[in-house]
Amino acid sequence: MPTRSEGRGDMLARIARLLIDAVLPPLCLSCQAEVGEPGSLCPECWSKVAFLAPPFCACCGLPFEFETGPGALCGECVADPPRFGRARAVFRYDEASRDLVLRLKHADRLDGVPAFARWMVRAGADLLEDADLLVPVPLHRWRLAARRYNQAALLALAMARLSGVRAAPDLMVRHRRTPPQGHLGRAGRRDNVAGAFAVPDHRRRLLEGRRVVLVDDVLTSGATVDECARVLLRAGAARVDALVLARVLRIEF
Ligand SMILES: [Zn+2]
Ligand SMILES: [Zn+2]
Repeated sequence: MPTRSEGRGDMLARIARLLIDAVLPPLCLSCQAEVGEPGSLCPECWSKVAFLAPPFCACCGLPFEFETGPGALCGECVADPPRFGRARAVFRYDEASRDLVLRLKHADRLDGVPAFARWMVRAGADLLEDADLLVPVPLHRWRLAARRYNQAALLALAMARLSGVRAAPDLMVRHRRTPPQGHLGRAGRRDNVAGAFAVPDHRRRLLEGRRVVLVDDVLTSGATVDECARVLLRAGAARVDALVLARVLRIEF
């Protein structure tokens, strides 16, 4: 239980932070160089980030090297169709973009959220066009307590303001902690998240017949959004797509 004085201390710290932010020049979200506008990238970092654009797999959004015509699917989506309908990402998760994502996740650098949300709304325009709900991939409550915020929920709330699609941050819960997936292969990742998510009974009415866009920061193998899509469809969603900030294109095992 925080005491009254701690609460006041927190508030003073926050005000001090706002004052400092107001007098210091804004810094690049990636390399911390000075930039003209808060929450933006310097020209050099901007040129290094691999923003994803068509042509790509109509389902999972995997970029193709050559134009393939509308509706073309990648080999993986043909062989093993995911439960979600479509997935789209803003940029490739790589050396150049890793810091952007990690800072959002761990280092309390939240001034990137408005720009990230703007980019996501643009990359997912097709998905958002007739969507009813934005649902962030939830964190387990212990992890949420340690980190204090769910970065996916922050993105979903910012996207809701820009797109007019309602955000439902508490529609799904993660009731099982999942170990880090870094070392796991595709099948291992699927097993790792199986049964980790649920839609609480009292949220089902909101979901019934709705077209959902799942929101997350990174898509790695797709196992997490695929499992969330399975749970949401079973709980009554009409359709589930996924929109993420960064996507891993090649998983090294
Ligand atoms: Zn930079
Ligand atoms: Zn695909």
